[in-house]
Amino acid sequence: MAEKGKKRCSFCGRTEEQVALLMTGMTGYICNDCVEQAHAILREESLLPKSDIEMTELPKPKEIKAFLDEYVIGQDEAKCALAVSVYNHYKRLMQRDACDDVEIEKSNIIMVGSTGTGKTLLARTIARLLKVPFTIVDATVLTEAGYVGEDIESILTRLLQVADYNVEEAERGIVFIDEIDKIARKSDNPSITRDVSGEGVQQGLLKLLEGSIVNVPPQGGRKHPDQKMIPVNTKHILFICGGAFDGIEKKIAQRLNTHVVGYNSVQNSKQVDKSDMMRYIAPQDLRSFGLIPEIVGRLPILTSLRPLDRETLRNILTEPKNSLVKQYIRLMEMDGVELTFEPETLDYIVDTAVEYKLGARGLRSIVETIMMEKMFDVPSSGVKTCKITKEYAKKQIEKSTSIAGA
Ligand code: ADP
Repeated sequence: MAEKGKKRCSFCGRTEEQVALLMTGMTGYICNDCVEQAHAILREESLLPKSDIEMTELPKPKEIKAFLDEYVIGQDEAKCALAVSVYNHYKRLMQRDACDDVEIEKSNIIMVGSTGTGKTLLARTIARLLKVPFTIVDATVLTEAGYVGEDIESILTRLLQVADYNVEEAERGIVFIDEIDKIARKSDNPSITRDVSGEGVQQGLLKLLEGSIVNVPPQGGRKHPDQKMIPVNTKHILFICGGAFDGIEKKIAQRLNTHVVGYNSVQNSKQVDKSDMMRYIAPQDLRSFGLIPEIVGRLPILTSLRPLDRETLRNILTEPKNSLVKQYIRLMEMDGVELTFEPETLDYIVDTAVEYKLGARGLRSIVETIMMEKMFDVPSSGVKTCKITKEYAKKQIEKSTSIAGA
């Protein structure tokens, strides 16, 4: 018998204690399970809105690029490619349920550029803007089934985790695969030795890129027989790959020297900017580097990042919305101290980064070294202003041993 006075779900009759959540209506109650069932019925009857992403609220490619500009300096080519690809990804998602005979295929991206030029930063920044699940995975941990390392399907585990194990959400997500160059085939003849991190992994990855139903271990890592797998369809998942492809310049140069005519080639070798061969990259260079042709074919948008020159490094220090300099100014501001850097100090920081070949990645450790003592002393000193001169910066760097070894 039902006890009087207890709140019950008006649909299934269970009490508040028996369900996770009981929602109150005007004249009755509904529990979380019944809400879910109702939702499933709506879906079956196709009564749900076609997509929860509305065309009007989608950021346009130009807006996406403007957003990236706030955080990432330069790299316009890569930004435009990313912006267009993400925008098209949304469009494809909206088309998904509609009966349209022009099916938009997904266009996965590959970004090539030396380490520290902003590939991961671009991916992280775009993630802030996205309304779909997004995750970054590192290709170096992936190995062929049967070897030590993670199975290729674990890439999707992360996506499932950020989507709170909502498979439907994960199936429209975006995955950034970092260090894709590390799974390139090491030798030209794959049959001599078994290439643990090479072709087998690429074949596995191909399955994901092509779009197929993949059984994903919910906890990641290696599969084991009694683990319950979650089937995930990768057809609509967008893949963005990034890699440094160290040494690919040689392959590009070889190609440019041997094929001087035709589409995509540089007609006159005098025009080639030898300091930045990466800008001439073409899909066949990825193949020469050791990616299998099928993978290259599944990454139709190939874009490269420019090396960071002095001017760019200088801008990186001050211009991004959360630039290093702005971060330190804010830190000091919280103690009521006005922090300033002399322009010569900033030049000196850039010179040091260039001297130690640390690129943008090194800027942070250099600024940290310079600021450490001040950050320790200033809060209890009672001063209201703090100016970092070049002499002071130099003294701090010379005192420190950590930078040179970085
Ligand atoms: P990678 O290309 O190796 O993925 P990252 O994106 O990790 O390089 O860059 C390392 C760090 O250098 C970033 O966290 C960022 O602070 C800085 N950086 C690199 N490139 C840029 C850039 N174009 N604009 C602003 N900051 C940059």
